[in-house]
Amino acid sequence: MTYTLNEEEQLIIATVKKFLDKEVAPVASELEHANEYPTEIVEGMKQLGLFGANIPEQYGGLELSYTVFAMIFEEISRVWMGLAGILGTHCVLADVISRFGSEDQKHKFLPIMATGEKRGAICLSEPHAGTDLQAIKTTAERRGDYYYINGSKMWITNGRRAEIMLILTKTDKNTKPAYAGMSAFIAEKGEPGLTVSRDIDKLGYKSLETCELLFENFPVPAENLIGGREGEGFKHVMTGLESERINVAARGLGIARAAFEEAIKYSQERHTFGKPICEHQAIQLKLADMATKIEASRLLVYAAAEKKDRGERCDLEAGMAKLFATETAQECALEAMRIFGGNGYAKDFPVERYYRDAPLLIIGGGTNELQRLVIARNLLKKYPAKSSK
Ligand SMILES: Cc1cc2nc3c(=O)[nH]c(=O)nc-3n(C[C@H](O)[C@H](O)[C@H](O)COP(=O)(O)OP(=O)(O)OC[C@H]3O[C@@H](n4cnc5c(N)ncnc54)[C@H](O)[C@@H]3O)c2cc1C
Repeated sequence: MTYTLNEEEQLIIATVKKFLDKEVAPVASELEHANEYPTEIVEGMKQLGLFGANIPEQYGGLELSYTVFAMIFEEISRVWMGLAGILGTHCVLADVISRFGSEDQKHKFLPIMATGEKRGAICLSEPHAGTDLQAIKTTAERRGDYYYINGSKMWITNGRRAEIMLILTKTDKNTKPAYAGMSAFIAEKGEPGLTVSRDIDKLGYKSLETCELLFENFPVPAENLIGGREGEGFKHVMTGLESERINVAARGLGIARAAFEEAIKYSQERHTFGKPICEHQAIQLKLADMATKIEASRLLVYAAAEKKDRGERCDLEAGMAKLFATETAQECALEAMRIFGGNGYAKDFPVERYYRDAPLLIIGGGTNELQRLVIARNLLKKYPAKSSK
């Protein structure tokens, strides 16, 4: 890393770590097993200003660099990845409003989001379309001063508790290419026409809700069309997802580290055949591979964040970081479970939680198959074929 934290940034990271170790680590597994929403912890996150992490200072946020932003997601996920989910979609919405919102939209939404008073969700996926977002069917039709939204959204994290939503729609179903007919809105709950139809029961990522939402003539004021022009929603959302990839990559790094740290500690305590298991070469190979991949993930995550901090696009780097760090999280969680033996399978230790949380990261924020395609497309741009003329 070439990025050097200034004093204020060091203090922020140290404060977040202290909060996580003191307030979150002792209760994370218990709350997660009970699938209980961490209300008090969320209050603490509000006090720390975390909901304003990527909101400009002039709207009451912390305006952190992407590097510090990633460090916060890494630290949170080292303790409890689910908690990062409460912050993650909120930050994507904040990112999109900060970049593409009108001055009125920024003044109206960013200050209440920065305090965490109102939190955000992003409504992109639908029952039949996740990777292929241009195939969504939700429509927004303008009548007078309102757009009326109809359709169904699936997998919406924070869908029940969030009060402000980013909704990706089609304002023109027939335009080709399809993305040119897509528009994104900032919508507040409260009007009739929105039903949270169910909370999806999940393998992990517990304690925070992931929902199906049904929109039936749900009214959104025309002034809430992001950027004020129809047909630009796909671009807004894709840009927001670039920063989401960095946060998801950092979450992978956090889980991988947690799994490794538990495993190396346990391997020195557990004895078989008269010696600690860390003295068996088979275990040493695992520890070496885990630590090496974690270090490589760290370099990729922070290289992508630094590039974004320089104001450059980082699709290639963020894609590589997301791919590698989340696959590493998955591998490290499984390797930690092997090192723990039977104990890895028991709810008495946190390793089973890492093992259940890690797979979301290879799916969410754009599946890792999609990341490979993004990486390859960017590589082909970077290395264009020489003309045969
Ligand atoms: C716990 C959880 C929380 C989520 N939270 C949110 C949220 O808050 N908001 C939101 O909008 N969405 C959310 N999602 C949805 C998530 O973004 C999608 O699940 C993801 O994008 C994949 O879409 P899909 O499930 O429709 O899979 P599909 O798109 O149907 O993909 C199925 C498989 O096909 C592969 N595939 C698809 N197209 C290609 C291709 N061109 N080439 C190669 N392989 C391909 C995929 O990689 C995958 O392996 C969440 C999902 C989960 C599980």
